[in-house]
Amino acid sequence: MTKTMHYGIDGMTCQACATRLEKVLNKKEQIQTAFVNFASESLDVTYVRGALVTEDELSLWVTKAGFRLLPSAEPMKSSGFWQGFWADNKVLTLIFALFLLNMIGMMAGHHWLFVSVQFVLASVVQFWLARHFYKSAWASIKGGLANMDVLIVLGTLTIWLYSTYVYFTLLMNNHVHHAPHEVYYEASVMVIFFISFGKYIEHYTKRVSLDSIGLMLSLVPQFVKVKTHDGYCTIATDKVVSGDVILAKQDDYVALDGVVVSGFGACDESHLTGESMPIDKRIDDKVYAGAWVKTGAFEYRALSSSKTSTLAALTQNLALAQGSKAKVARVADKVAAVFVPVVVLVALVTFGLNYWLLDDTKIALMRAVAVLVIACPCALGLATPAAIMAGMGVAARHGVWFKNASSLELSGKINTVVFDKTGTLTVGKPTIIAKHIHDGKISADVIIGIAASLEKYSNHPLAHCFIEHAKSKNIKTFAVQSPKNYAGEGICGTVVGVGVVKIGRPSFVNYPAHAVINNGVWRAATVVAMSIDDKPVAIFALADEIRQDAKMLIDTLKQDNVDLIMMSGDRQSVVDYVAQTLDIKQALGDMTPQGKAAAIWGFKNSQTAARVAMVGDGINDALAMSAADSSFAVGGASDIAKHTSDAWLTGDSLAGVYHAKKISEHTLKVIHQNLFFAFVYNIIGMALAAMGFLTPMVAAIAMTLSSICVILNALRLKRLNLA
Ligand code: ADP
Ligand code: MG
Repeated sequence: MTKTMHYGIDGMTCQACATRLEKVLNKKEQIQTAFVNFASESLDVTYVRGALVTEDELSLWVTKAGFRLLPSAEPMKSSGFWQGFWADNKVLTLIFALFLLNMIGMMAGHHWLFVSVQFVLASVVQFWLARHFYKSAWASIKGGLANMDVLIVLGTLTIWLYSTYVYFTLLMNNHVHHAPHEVYYEASVMVIFFISFGKYIEHYTKRVSLDSIGLMLSLVPQFVKVKTHDGYCTIATDKVVSGDVILAKQDDYVALDGVVVSGFGACDESHLTGESMPIDKRIDDKVYAGAWVKTGAFEYRALSSSKTSTLAALTQNLALAQGSKAKVARVADKVAAVFVPVVVLVALVTFGLNYWLLDDTKIALMRAVAVLVIACPCALGLATPAAIMAGMGVAARHGVWFKNASSLELSGKINTVVFDKTGTLTVGKPTIIAKHIHDGKISADVIIGIAASLEKYSNHPLAHCFIEHAKSKNIKTFAVQSPKNYAGEGICGTVVGVGVVKIGRPSFVNYPAHAVINNGVWRAATVVAMSIDDKPVAIFALADEIRQDAKMLIDTLKQDNVDLIMMSGDRQSVVDYVAQTLDIKQALGDMTPQGKAAAIWGFKNSQTAARVAMVGDGINDALAMSAADSSFAVGGASDIAKHTSDAWLTGDSLAGVYHAKKISEHTLKVIHQNLFFAFVYNIIGMALAAMGFLTPMVAAIAMTLSSICVILNALRLKRLNLA
């Protein structure tokens, strides 16, 4: 499988930058796909199979395009907001303050900043402090996709050139005392200041507020107390190796996945499961990195390093998911491609018309510049990714981990939910409630021992009950050769000293029709049959509890007018029983994995063109999951199901399915609001600027505000509470 690598990108100023970098990288023959996300300032690359590209090489490509590759999209170190800005913009801020004071003085009728000083200061800003705008603008033009910095450079340079022309003309004619009223250096300085400040706010809110990953990772303590032969020593978490014993006291956070070896406590694992009820942790219980010890204290043995914990794996996936692109985000790309040339044209027309109508170069120029400045498409670029990032963060908090943006997008549109039964609607921890032994020569215990030996090689929830049963009764097990799983059917293998054993559906085992399975407890029980050397030996009735919150989820979904269907490889009579208990109208039993997938295609292609979500747990659901529009793997699902699904429900609860739908609906709403707002804002802004209602300075502030509005609107999602 080809691996996707995740990096941070520094130096992007708007959506056009992201689009251009993506284009540049996708042209490289070694790269299969490159995704650049403007909101998360990140890059995901998948290389062509077998391509050898070093990080240095990739870094070089990125640098050539005018940006900087960062090792990974690390969360921003949280220095204070103002310190962060001040550290990078001291001189700019001071010059801005001087011009501001001068403007205030001007209103009172005093010009105290000599025009010659203004000229020097404005030139420093224009050609030194704003040099990164030039670099970025030039790189983007070379790359064939002009970005917003082109507009900034054109706008401010126009003001500077005009002012300088006026200044020198007056100087030569000895009229320099008129100059303070004729030059506009403050406009160019202020535009550059406000744009820089706006970019910083944007960057800061993106990194600090939208970054749920940083938030998650901050749950892991930097240092831990590791047990030594004579007490504890404090060491850095990333130095801990698997096997070390770590102390966790009340209010500590668990640093690594591990297992409790002494003590007792209760942990809040809501960061993984969305469930905030503390869970008791006793000896031999597993604890997870990032869990919060609410009461008690215990020692746990590390089973992972900090890089391989469940939390680390999840956050890596989340980083990839947040970086991926939603379908609606392509709108911004398309617009960004034509935006700058169109805006430059509009600015030229503005100048021409105003000059023609008013016969005043100064006013016409200022209006044209205001058009250039307000038109920057950053809000448009941020509209979708900001909402997606926020939505995914909220989903993760509710125990739903989406794999990519489009799965988040699609989950809001579903109107049909298909549930698997065993392990999905039921707990998946069945017990043997009845058995029928065919062959009196072998004792029931030996038969269960044989079954348990083979079932060790299966991931099916039914397999556990044989293993548990044998373990609790200390029944002897046997060695097994060449076990083979048949998804949705059963398992087969050679049990040493016994013969070829098959366990699974009666039809898989060629079990003869037997009257017993239609009576008493058998009717509503899952039936598993077993044969040795093709001779039927036993059948078992297994009962599995229905998940506690299954009924609630089903009722909630019904209220939302969602069609519900259950599909199972189990017998129709059992399926009917569960369906009745949960009040699901449509229930299909005896389904093969292919049958499940075919049924889903059927719903999708039916007249109602259902948009289907599949919720499942097993290998036998994987095909159906990939056929569905969106799919969820429940907690405790097999790896294949987790891998195939669009989202993973981390908790022990099914409620995530409903939460996912709701979060997705809200996210889509925010995306549409944002896109609409950004478009309308830009168009109205440009019209106002062209008509002279906005000075370049106000335009700069207004442009920044639009980006901030879009981010704030996305952040509303974080307050979404579905519990
Ligand atoms: P569901 O679709 O409800 O999850 P499955 O398709 O996983 O159910 O299983 C269908 C049937 O296949 C089960 O009812 C059981 O009889 C049989 N089966 C599959 N795998 C096994 C196994 N490892 N051990 C015993 N029975 C199995
Ligand atoms: Mg199942």
